[in-house]
Amino acid sequence: MAYVIIAVCFGLSGGIIGKIKGSSFLLWFLISGAIPVFGLIAACAYRFEREELRRECPGCGRVTKIYDALCTRCGTELEFPDVAIAPESWERVPAAPSR
Ligand SMILES: [Zn+2]
Repeated sequence: MAYVIIAVCFGLSGGIIGKIKGSSFLLWFLISGAIPVFGLIAACAYRFEREELRRECPGCGRVTKIYDALCTRCGTELEFPDVAIAPESWERVPAAPSR
């Protein structure tokens, strides 16, 4: 019984973290509830992933994480860039784009 309570607590925590970052509450609730500790870590890691600075590959233009040493698309070795691209989480625009 104690395990169920723990699983639900972790599920709620993971779900809330996922929801804050614009993902599915139910998805992260299930992941965190099924594998309590790792699910919550995954939810946190997902969150930090979106907070990371990014940069553009000089070879193919693919946007990669700033800490990547190799481009995952073309294999170009990546120097630490002079110009970084703002994290994904900064690109949220409150107003919907007009069409
Ligand atoms: Zn590339």
